[in-house]
Amino acid sequence: PAVLVNPLRPALLAAARSPRLERTVSRLGLTRRVVDRFVPGESEASVVAAAEELLASGRFVSVDHLGEDTTDAAQADATVAAYLSLLRAWADLPVPAGTAVPALEVSLKLSALGQSLPGDGEAVALANARTICRAADAAGVWVNVDAEDHTTTDSTLAVVRALREDHPTVATVLQAYLHRTEDDCRALSGPGSRVRLCKGAYAEPASVAFQSGEEVDASYRRCLEVLVRGQGYPMVASHDPAMISAAEALVAGTGRGADDYEFQMLYGIRDAEQRRLVVQGHHVRVYTPYGDQWYGYFMRRLAERPANLAFFLRSLVSR
Ligand code: FAD
Repeated sequence: PAVLVNPLRPALLAAARSPRLERTVSRLGLTRRVVDRFVPGESEASVVAAAEELLASGRFVSVDHLGEDTTDAAQADATVAAYLSLLRAWADLPVPAGTAVPALEVSLKLSALGQSLPGDGEAVALANARTICRAADAAGVWVNVDAEDHTTTDSTLAVVRALREDHPTVATVLQAYLHRTEDDCRALSGPGSRVRLCKGAYAEPASVAFQSGEEVDASYRRCLEVLVRGQGYPMVASHDPAMISAAEALVAGTGRGADDYEFQMLYGIRDAEQRRLVVQGHHVRVYTPYGDQWYGYFMRRLAERPANLAFFLRSLVSR
């Protein structure tokens, strides 16, 4: 079957980067009714409660403090402080016993930690990420470094390599839509290497990225095969039934145990499928974002699926 591509995807992804539209959309006062479908809330308390519910249902979580493209060091410091506070709050959370895999993870965006600051942005982001990694290690929480647009890929992978010298479980994300990713998968498929494989959420030019759904899916399957046949810990991040069944077949065929890979989906998307995978004996981690800077994340979700956009437009009309 033809892969359904949202015709408004390029426009929505461009809008995701527009501060002017961000102000307009924020003024619509949507937070409660629409954004909550994808974001459990703006406060730390709301994400701690959401994490508790997910854990109680047998799922794991990866929490992201929303924010990206930080333009001043003070904002990056505030992001670090938010993660440290969350890690302290998690100390009281009842975490399921008896799994070899940490149920709690934090996901970081290096651009929120200072990566794009002029001059020494990469060093600032590395130092900030180290601070979070030290606290996470002490708390028994995993850390993942998210993938952003392709201009940051080399810098992000360099920061992850540096972090892994002291914190070997630090994971990163590879995006199947990039031409380079199959090679990156090979380079990152060694023992202990944790890689989240996703399709990719940004607007990227044809010079670096596959443009059609079919090509992205084919790349995803090739990358999945490299990671699952490799020696690392693959994290299959997709809502796509075709990608999920390809992963189920590969892990069964390679004899991987339940603690040797995981599925991942976004908060609020395909809840029943998340639960089905748990019942089947797979680990499922739910990427759960919180905070008031939800605009870019929210717009990328709208760009992914005509149905998400329709949901948003309907809610505007029925306000
Ligand atoms: P799509 O091609 O969007 O969807 C394929 C099919 O999935 C649909 O046709 C439909 O059958 C099904 N489906 C999708 N949504 C629904 C729904 N709401 N209800 C029912 N069925 C649905 N991107 C990055 O660039 N960097 C990151 O660091 C990053 N981290 C991520 C972490 C996680 C855990 C996940 C799940 C995604 C992440 N992404 C990230 C986003 C990712 O790149 C994709 O943009 C996003 O996941 C959509 O791709 P998809 O694989 O789900 O398939």
